[in-house]
Amino acid sequence: MRVVRTIRELRAELAERRGAGAARVGLVPTMGALHEGHLSLLRAARAENDAVVLSIFVNPKQFTEGADLDAYPRTEVSDTDAAEAADVDIVFAPAASEMYPAGYATTVSVGGALTETLEGAGRGTAHFDGVATVVAKLLIAVGADAAYFGQKDAQQLLVVRRMAADLGIPTRIVSCPTQRDDDGLALSSRNTLLSDEERSRAVAIPRALQAVRSAVLEGARDVAELRTIALSMLHASNLEPEYLAFADPATLEEVAVIDRPVLVAIAARVGAVRLIDNLLLGSEPEQREES
Ligand code: AMP
Repeated sequence: MRVVRTIRELRAELAERRGAGAARVGLVPTMGALHEGHLSLLRAARAENDAVVLSIFVNPKQFTEGADLDAYPRTEVSDTDAAEAADVDIVFAPAASEMYPAGYATTVSVGGALTETLEGAGRGTAHFDGVATVVAKLLIAVGADAAYFGQKDAQQLLVVRRMAADLGIPTRIVSCPTQRDDDGLALSSRNTLLSDEERSRAVAIPRALQAVRSAVLEGARDVAELRTIALSMLHASNLEPEYLAFADPATLEEVAVIDRPVLVAIAARVGAVRLIDNLLLGSEPEQREES
């Protein structure tokens, strides 16, 4: 495994591997602090490609709060160990000055409801500008055949698909199911920032989602009723969601009745830590999807 810091080194390393017969290159973009969610993406990439690139870059452009960027966990040494164990070929871990050198002036911005709602409303549209910009740069730098993303960040996945389609970037975008702890909490690098008390309250987020799923399985269809169920579970753990959305999984438009597949998405601050989670109603079990 090679750890490279510059796009030039990355390209040279990839050229060598392609020259040696690596036909398919898979990319897993991350911000590091690797957990089982990231490892599941690496396994999917490993199974389908001849060479696997893991990128680790805490992208300042997608953070809309400086304190959040400063607090974000950085664990590069254990990340590279985990990458080695996951049979990654190349770790691309650039400095911010490599991705955004002096004079850098280009932003990739996906317009419309995909970026203005949910996370875009909560964190500001600059968040998804940062995501679209860095992912476009990574897809281009790697020339990836396939790139792997988690359904945990469902809106990000939609934005990345839109961006790649609109820019004609021919990388297959693959979504992988959300990995969870035993109690249901979606794995997240941010979970390490929770106190024990916050960690136990955070589990109300997946429980609220599961309560919605159970109610729908029992026949509930009215979103107002489902919202009440979810909110009461969150409130019982003293959580006030930033949003609790019932949305069309392709367009993110709000829905009022569960009469087709619906994405249920929650963002909530637990103490200082902002967590997100979601589930897709009407497509069980969670499916892997491609475009
Ligand atoms: P991050 O390092 O948080 O930017 O995440 C990098 C990638 O891992 C993104 O595509 C995330 O959606 C994905 N990811 C994060 N958490 C999980 C999880 N619990 N299960 C599956 N994928 C995840």
